[in-house]
Amino acid sequence: MAFDFASLPAVRGKLIENAPLAPYTWFRVGGPADALFLPADEEDLSQFLTALPEDVPVTVLGVGSNLIVRDGGIEGVVVRLAGGYWGNVESEGLLLAARAGALDLSVAKYAARSGLSGLSFFSGIPGTLGGATRTNAGCYGRELKDVLAGARAVTRGGEVVELTPEHFGFSYRHSELPEDLIVTTLILQADGEGDPEALAEEIAAHQARRAETQPIKDKTSGSTFANPDPPDTENQRSAWKLVDAAGCRGLKVGGAQVSEKHCNFLINTGDATAADLEALGELVRARVLDTSGVELRWEVRRIGRLKAD
Ligand SMILES: Cc1cc2nc3c(=O)[nH]c(=O)nc-3n(C[C@H](O)[C@H](O)[C@H](O)COP(=O)(O)OP(=O)(O)OC[C@H]3O[C@@H](n4cnc5c(N)ncnc54)[C@H](O)[C@@H]3O)c2cc1C
Repeated sequence: MAFDFASLPAVRGKLIENAPLAPYTWFRVGGPADALFLPADEEDLSQFLTALPEDVPVTVLGVGSNLIVRDGGIEGVVVRLAGGYWGNVESEGLLLAARAGALDLSVAKYAARSGLSGLSFFSGIPGTLGGATRTNAGCYGRELKDVLAGARAVTRGGEVVELTPEHFGFSYRHSELPEDLIVTTLILQADGEGDPEALAEEIAAHQARRAETQPIKDKTSGSTFANPDPPDTENQRSAWKLVDAAGCRGLKVGGAQVSEKHCNFLINTGDATAADLEALGELVRARVLDTSGVELRWEVRRIGRLKAD
């Protein structure tokens, strides 16, 4: 049945019909959303979801740095928390409140300027705080769960709810957060006070290390597969080493390629489709299973409809 755009509830933000999503993802692939909703604020989002018929699917996007949107696009309404209101960050004492659309890098920089330590690791993650809640994003030995003190979210029915860290059920690159909850605000706990200049240097060092080891200028989505063992286990096996050992460095399917620079990254060399990227990821998983017996778990989330032929 055709999507009935005209019957969607009125909003104060923007509502766009048949909106291309590729420009909103790092991979730059994927089909359109039936409707794209850019809510003005939390109340706009909540009122819209309250009035939206229950059978319309809703999907939330951050900045698409951990996503393959499939070529057939996304059914229903895609919500994107972007722009002024959604990027707001403020602090009081050692607590920092940030809206879910705030970039992790902006949060790290804000904390550094405010002399709050323990949050610099966010500068290594190119997504939003909202996106970080899905995979318990982290780097340099820390992850969201180490610093999350609380959150607010809107349910699919439009109710605004307060969440404790326990609601997220975090583990290594995983959370148990119900798929239909849209996180709107996060409260982060800093470790203590720190010297703003030293914290800014920490961020600069993280970024320099990234640029050296990762293809951050390419159309990519970061680590494709989670490491098979959580970081605190003995004999930790890295996904990239398994991919390398399976001979997949540089492997191609259509316009998709396993990065030569970091072989747990897939890249769109220019004209890749979402199907190319997904097929390449599955080929890598099959080869790793063959060579090492390990079944790699996708860390990149794949969402939407396959393209009808
Ligand atoms: C070069 C590069 C390096 C990277 N390095 C790291 C790294 O070191 N560590 C790491 O953990 N990740 C890394 N990533 C992956 C990615 O940046 C993180 O997973 C990030 O947290 C995703 O945020 P996003 O805003 O881009 O989310 P998206 O990719 O837009 O969405 C990811 C998921 O989060 C959900 N989501 C988004 N916003 C919300 C919300 N408000 N409420 C509920 N759910 C929401 C979406 O529905 C989707 O399922 C890297 C990516 C790239 C491209």
